[in-house]
Amino acid sequence: MSRLCRLTLTFLFVFFPFIAHAQWYKHSFKVMGTMSHVEFWLDQQSKTDNDIINAGVAQNEQAQALIKAVELEMVRIDQQMSPYKEQSELSLVNRSADKKPVLISGELFELLSTAQHISALSDGAFDITYASIGYQYNYREKTRPSQSSIVQTLPAINYTAISLDKKRSTVYFNHQGMKIDLGGIAKGYAVKRCLTLLEEAGIKHALVSAGGDTGLLGNRKGRPWLVGIKHPRAEHKMAVHIPLENEAISTSGDYERYFIEDGVRYHHIINPKTGDSARKVVSVSVIGKDPTYVDALSTTVFVKGLTPGLKLINALPDFEAIIIDNQRRLHYSQGLQQ
Ligand code: ADP
Ligand code: MG
Repeated sequence: MSRLCRLTLTFLFVFFPFIAHAQWYKHSFKVMGTMSHVEFWLDQQSKTDNDIINAGVAQNEQAQALIKAVELEMVRIDQQMSPYKEQSELSLVNRSADKKPVLISGELFELLSTAQHISALSDGAFDITYASIGYQYNYREKTRPSQSSIVQTLPAINYTAISLDKKRSTVYFNHQGMKIDLGGIAKGYAVKRCLTLLEEAGIKHALVSAGGDTGLLGNRKGRPWLVGIKHPRAEHKMAVHIPLENEAISTSGDYERYFIEDGVRYHHIINPKTGDSARKVVSVSVIGKDPTYVDALSTTVFVKGLTPGLKLINALPDFEAIIIDNQRRLHYSQGLQQ
């Protein structure tokens, strides 16, 4: 570092110590086919006040290391759970679990167990075996399964045909040709893991998002975080902003991956009972403490639609929901109505 540069930094750190010792760090990156974002406040108590420059540099290095760790964690989960990667653990399961029990990691086992719990809770509205038909849709190529193919494959959508053996840590599909997909839950799980990583590093104020899934640690230094819910029909507009602290929020919309054919919108949230896209509402956001659950529950409520969806959320004390119906009207669960 040049002498002039050192002098300037010394001046800045002496007269504006908050620059060196506390600041927001932000980073955006692409993973899991979507944009992710991490933002946190790093409040370092330096014990080397006689070497403020080094303290500032060390803080920057710590921030960059945390950012890298968050990014790597998301990449790791993507590599494990992506259906598009042949070597992922999920692909291995999809290739073999309808033939024999497949040994899986404790991490995947836990996530599959959570998915099964939400399927039971939602009477099958959330069902990772939706993929048996879901993989026949290609939103980029604008192709979809024929009605006869749907009818033929529908019996392969049935979460109760997934057998999880905790002792052996295996998964088995009791139905030939059955497939699973974690697109409705894995991003929330990734957000949860990254928040834990930041928390363990002593961070008190942070936001981590992956697509429509956001998790928050604390507040935005004295103020709540303001999380926007996208306008379902205007790409860069927000329908509403929600002030939140220490919560997670997940939004499921019919505008993320879709194509329109003969005036009908085919999108990526599938009703497991019909094999067709769910069309009762256009956007669902679920708020709660656990990012994995809010992710899966936003998909669940989207499938269920307005009245049954609100009924489910109102029966769960730890969760709230904001739903935008087909007429673009906003609906709130009981806990948000004051
Ligand atoms: P996004 O992936 O855009 O954040 P969601 O959280 O609503 O939106 O998840 C949608 C994804 O969930 C789909 O891309 C698909 O991978 C998966 N999915 C679709 N329908 C279902 C369903 N009925 N049950 C479980 N997962 C589903
Ligand atoms: Mg979801």
